[in-house]
Amino acid sequence: MKQLIAIIVVVITFMSSSFSVSAHTLSPENQPSSLDGEWVFYHEKLMSKGIFEQGKSVQIPSSFQKEIGIKNTYGTYVRTWQVPKEWRNHRLAVHIPFEYSAYAFYVDGEKLVEAGQVGPERQHETMLAARTAYFTPTKSSVTFQMEMSSFHHIRGGFENSIYIGNQTAIDRHVNAQFYRNAIMTGLMFMMGLLMLIFAWFLKDLREFFVFGLFCLSFATRSFFAVPFLYEKITSISYVWATKMEYFWTLLCFAIFIYLMKLYYEQRFSKWIVHGVWSICGFLMLMTLTTPPVVFQTLFFKLSWTMLPVFGYLLYIMMCSVRSSKWVSRLHMIGAAIVFSGVILDYLKGSGIITVPLEMTMPAVSIYLLLQLIAIAKDFAKGRTQLIKLNTSLDEEVALRTKQLEEKNEQLALIAWQDSLTGIANRRYFNEKIDERFQYAQQSGENLSLIMLDVDEFKQYNDYYGHVAGDRLLKKFAALINEVLPQHVLFARYGGEEFVLVTAHNAVEAKAFAEMLRQHIEEAKLAHLGRKVKQVTASFGVRTYTNETTADELVNKADELLYLAKASGRNCVQA
Ligand code: GH3
Ligand code: MG
Ligand code: MG
Repeated sequence: MKQLIAIIVVVITFMSSSFSVSAHTLSPENQPSSLDGEWVFYHEKLMSKGIFEQGKSVQIPSSFQKEIGIKNTYGTYVRTWQVPKEWRNHRLAVHIPFEYSAYAFYVDGEKLVEAGQVGPERQHETMLAARTAYFTPTKSSVTFQMEMSSFHHIRGGFENSIYIGNQTAIDRHVNAQFYRNAIMTGLMFMMGLLMLIFAWFLKDLREFFVFGLFCLSFATRSFFAVPFLYEKITSISYVWATKMEYFWTLLCFAIFIYLMKLYYEQRFSKWIVHGVWSICGFLMLMTLTTPPVVFQTLFFKLSWTMLPVFGYLLYIMMCSVRSSKWVSRLHMIGAAIVFSGVILDYLKGSGIITVPLEMTMPAVSIYLLLQLIAIAKDFAKGRTQLIKLNTSLDEEVALRTKQLEEKNEQLALIAWQDSLTGIANRRYFNEKIDERFQYAQQSGENLSLIMLDVDEFKQYNDYYGHVAGDRLLKKFAALINEVLPQHVLFARYGGEEFVLVTAHNAVEAKAFAEMLRQHIEEAKLAHLGRKVKQVTASFGVRTYTNETTADELVNKADELLYLAKASGRNCVQA
């Protein structure tokens, strides 16, 4: 809600600034005044033909059609103007925004400005152009004469109010209007380009592309429409400038409808789009190939068929008010403003209402602004989401890495550890014995291998069961660990057979084995399945002398272990 209020404030500020530039820049005593009111119209008379008689009193603004019932004709409008005292001997200006006619403006019989070529024949061009006339009144009254002819327009006559005032004030007013339009057209053009560039990089955003096209075609249209920027930069003829204005206006509308279709995808009927495109396409073709009188007539006749389309658009907008999100509401407000501007200008163009300014231009500018807000908000939202996503992704990665490290540690343990007893396993022993053997070979250091095997363990399993057997193996390994010096490798060789790798010489190794045997014996672990009623172990001890491989050393220790078994168990053979 707060955001909505902010937007409305921005929109109102923007609107008021674009409408009131002229009012604020003029001081009150210098306010230009309109030359509307009573003039005398001399039909089919031109200034060059001399003194007139039998004029007709008319109220300006007024069209040929209204005064004499025909559109395409010529004549002169005359009016005497009382010069306000304070304006006498000051340089004054008369601004003619444009008329639907070629015209020449005279003060006291002297031609000051003209637009197009005024004349009685069809070949005399019609015009749409703004001009400003300057003069300094010295007497208490002056006579204005406005010669006009129109042959190639659907309208004609003295249809737009002209203004008189202090030269500076009028110039300022005209310049303000001109620059405002030039800046807005330029901005719109740049905005359109920007949108197309966006669309180029963000290929999935078709709205950007279409909105960019809309901006570009609207900017082009504005270039050819009131206040006729094209006239200052190019030498394009009035007829082609009018064709361009209508052509780009139609293209704009065709794009606008497609844009609406994109915004209201689910609701919008594609038949409406096709219908509008067909009518616009036909009118565009006519615009390019026929004279203004023909295509303008067609335009205003056929544009009534757009009424149901406008109604449909309104209906679609109403429908989505409740359901839609903030951003699409913004689009909706913008579209509604453009929509109102277009309708007002259309009514003005048809002569139904009179408004001092073109409304579509400010309306589209407001829409542009709203669109910018929507894009900025979308981007900000996207960015925040991205940052959030990144953060959560980082956290996720950290968690996974930790889990992976734990798993790796576990794997490393599994790789070297015997799962039952917790001491080194056979694989680890195999690796180490090779290293130790090579080292002993090269350095001449002592290397002894002690193989030991639990006596009559089969009977233990038979007597106590397999689970108790496992428990005994664990206890047995722990028992040996208790008395194990550092740097002695203790591994489970397999089953109830263990192996020790020490740096003892033959005598030390045998003594060490004997100490272990006694330690086991003294532990008095019960083994009721055998005669001696307790757990004992047999030992085979071999110290490296002339063996060529580690395997040879292991085999010899193993043989000695069997010898110990054979010689009654619970003994050491070295
Ligand atoms: P000896 O005194 O000649 O060594 O006799 P023994 O019964 O200890 O030897 P033998 O090789 O005949 O039997 C070893 C038994 O150890 C056979 C097997 O079921 C048992 N065994 C091997 N590994 C495990 C184990 O991990 N857990 C248990 N509970 N029993 C095991
Ligand atoms: Mg055994
Ligand atoms: Mg065995």
